[in-house]
Amino acid sequence: MSVLISRNPATGEELGSAPIFSPDQVREAVKAARAAQVEWGQLTVRQRNQRLKRLTRALVEQADSIAALIVAEQGKNQVEAYGEVISALELLHFYSRRAAAILRTRSISPRLGVLRSHRLVAQPRGVVGIISPWNYPFTLSMEPLIAALVAGNGVVLKPSEYTPQVGLKIGELARLAELPRGLVQVITGDAATGQALITAGIDKLVFTGSVANGRKVAALAGEHLVPVTLELGGKDAAIVLADADLDRAADGILWGALLNAGQACLAIERVYVEQPVAQLFIEKLTEKAARLRTGPASDPANEVCAITTPAQLNTIQRHIADARQKGARVLLGGQPLEGSGRFFPPTIVVDVNEDMAIMSEETFGPVIAVQTVKDAEEAIRRANQSRYGLTASVWTKDMRRGRRLLTRLEVGDAALNDHGASAGYAEIGWGGRKASGYGKTRGAEGLQEMVVWQHISWPRLDIPLMGFPYSERKVRFVRSLIKLLFGNWQERLAALKNQNFP
Ligand code: NAD
Repeated sequence: MSVLISRNPATGEELGSAPIFSPDQVREAVKAARAAQVEWGQLTVRQRNQRLKRLTRALVEQADSIAALIVAEQGKNQVEAYGEVISALELLHFYSRRAAAILRTRSISPRLGVLRSHRLVAQPRGVVGIISPWNYPFTLSMEPLIAALVAGNGVVLKPSEYTPQVGLKIGELARLAELPRGLVQVITGDAATGQALITAGIDKLVFTGSVANGRKVAALAGEHLVPVTLELGGKDAAIVLADADLDRAADGILWGALLNAGQACLAIERVYVEQPVAQLFIEKLTEKAARLRTGPASDPANEVCAITTPAQLNTIQRHIADARQKGARVLLGGQPLEGSGRFFPPTIVVDVNEDMAIMSEETFGPVIAVQTVKDAEEAIRRANQSRYGLTASVWTKDMRRGRRLLTRLEVGDAALNDHGASAGYAEIGWGGRKASGYGKTRGAEGLQEMVVWQHISWPRLDIPLMGFPYSERKVRFVRSLIKLLFGNWQERLAALKNQNFP
């Protein structure tokens, strides 16, 4: 059987192997999750939350080993690795307090259905498939997994082929939490394993990954009528206005661009700066970026850590070469570090334009391209020109104007004087628009996507208003109904007088 060998991107050290699940094994996993889900789905939200307290306990107790594994397999700084654990715990905490209310049975009173009682009931979908990427291997697997479980579903998780050990750790956490046997399945493998999952009879899919693969996933899911949430790539913009606190903007943009060595869907990759302050801002940005340390996460002081995959390093180099060839200037960085391990230092590129891949395609590395613009209007226009729509930020001291500009940005999350401000907040649904995907994870919206709102109804008074046989009298009734319900007051009065009721 083929296996996936994990290697530490900072050292090349082998970390372990994981099987590549065959389509038959994937179907078996879905079957097992479905069998376990039957009982789980019948518990109340409160009962499920009670059981999930043990998952919280397991995460708290295992936080160090989870973070160490994320650092080893994916390569990010330890601060950020612990952040992944906190995001998952925070979501468990939020749903433990709010899920019962979000999923409570609702009573509704349709005016055409007054003779019956109506309720909307949150039914679990069944088995939720999760296909996750390598850049936040824990958070982006755990968040949909937690929402799916709270809502009463079984889960089959397909982690990235680059971070299968983190995926297997999630399986171990489910066992430590003593969740019902079979309810959480982890199937390691590659794109073909992911495809097998989509066609294995799941009831819902949460896919986080690239736009190119998201398209293929959406097409396959469409063929099998599997509802899908797509969390895809970004090419996120920051807009620096002339009145911004330039030090604050440069610090914030550096963090927003270089966290996880830029391998974040929400990372700032394009900066539009107003002409009067462009030179000063670029100087500050470059100076501050030059002070950041690039190297392995084993040294907690290294801010810019490993590039996880060889393919990612190639993309970064390709985008910089393309920009250089088309006339851009690289003010800082631009070359991978020499020696073992994959590292790329903070890189600042200017004199860029939209014909360059660095301004139009997702780079996913510690690279910031800065374009000077005439004014805020031009900045908004250029920011919105992108096919992506995940996050954006505006940097200004004028809060009122800044807030107005945020609402004109075609993204799922827009922040003033901060970037990707909602990432990690359990209460706020996460998701992009345009090519960055559709649907939400986290928050009330993320939980609602894990259920089907079933309508149930029963008679209050057993008088059937409509039904066979049809007659001339019934035609007159529905005609007068139009006047009665939607006409002006004279028409309503006339309809009442006619009394064409069945
Ligand atoms: P990827 O698309 O290469 O892979 C993601 C997952 O999909 C992996 O598990 C992979 O095995 C699987 N996969 C690939 N092709 C598939 C197919 N045809 N059918 C089914 N499964 C398939 O993405 P990646 O390189 O792992 O992750 C980086 C990408 O994810 C970036 O584009 C990044 O912006 C995006 N991302 C988005 C968000 C978000 O919240 N919007 C968050 C993190 C990452």
